[in-house]
Amino acid sequence: MCSQPILEVTDVTRHYASGRRWPLGSASRVHAVDGVSFTLGERETLGLVGESGCGKSTLGRMLVALDRPTSGTIRYRGEDIHRLSPAGLKALRRKIQIVLQDPYTSLDPRMTVGDIVAEPLAVHGEGTPAERRRRTRELFELIGLNPDHVNRYPHEFSGGQRQRIGIARALALGPEIVICDEPVSALDVSVQAQVLNLLADLQEQLNLSYVFIAHDLTVVRQISHRVAVMYLGKVIEVGPEGAVYGQPRHPYTQALLSSAPPTDPDMAREQEVIMLNGDPPSPAEPPSGCRFRTRCWKAEEVCAVHEPALVEGVTSGHQTACHFAPAVSVQESD
Ligand code: ADP
Ligand code: MG
Repeated sequence: MCSQPILEVTDVTRHYASGRRWPLGSASRVHAVDGVSFTLGERETLGLVGESGCGKSTLGRMLVALDRPTSGTIRYRGEDIHRLSPAGLKALRRKIQIVLQDPYTSLDPRMTVGDIVAEPLAVHGEGTPAERRRRTRELFELIGLNPDHVNRYPHEFSGGQRQRIGIARALALGPEIVICDEPVSALDVSVQAQVLNLLADLQEQLNLSYVFIAHDLTVVRQISHRVAVMYLGKVIEVGPEGAVYGQPRHPYTQALLSSAPPTDPDMAREQEVIMLNGDPPSPAEPPSGCRFRTRCWKAEEVCAVHEPALVEGVTSGHQTACHFAPAVSVQESD
């Protein structure tokens, strides 16, 4: 599954001017994404999970070059996607696509769904109009919609069907990577499962890689091979799905998992729900040291002074940024 990475994200930040001014007159900065690194392998799904406002969508937009990092690099097959020529960027659009959350606002209500799906083909001058119509019908079949409905309008479809149309559009140019930004968050649970199954089938069929963004841990778990947990612009834990969910090592991940509904009903939930104090701090004024310390029950003085780096635990590739995580893993392995 994880051969050579096709996407390499290295120390990426994105700071926005917040508009608020500090007493000395300099504008404060929103640290939306603040030093994120990860890789994505071929045919791999990396789940990206975290509370609303932690920087997931900002990161997603940078991965498809709709936004530029303040610093750091994003490489697709070794090439920095933010240093491409206009022609290179156009070629990149074929390879990396995005599916957005809201199936009600992300489709143009004045266009037929066939035109919506075919639009990327037309923009890239792909084939004749007749070839594009044929390809559009193929894409409809691929995502499980009736190709005879290409002349209908978005409002004639349900939320789940609209999300399928968004997926068909993203697949039109034959991408290798699809960034899925909360693609099922607006859907009912039963419809969520259908769309997740569709994404998994498409991955098999088309050898796709996904970065799958969601705030819901259960949803992320269903589809991901690896999972990265974000908090206030940073990845605080990353690893294989089984390790992150089975032996979460960061207090934040532990808290999130303790309040998620159990995935295995046979497993008695002995674990108490860990209640976090308050809301996440503002990304314009992140706490010193470890950003999670203001809500963490394990926090000590060191956490305010030193920012913990991601450190590998007992499971290969399972990394956690917590001053207390290494000690926990040593005890566990005794
Ligand atoms: P998520 O997708 O995890 O909910 P976002 O990436 O949308 O988080 O937002 C991360 C932070 O960046 C939030 O505090 C948000 O208000 C801020 N932010 C996002 N986009 C902008 C923007 N264009 N200008 C200023 N701040 C922004
Ligand atoms: Mg978002």
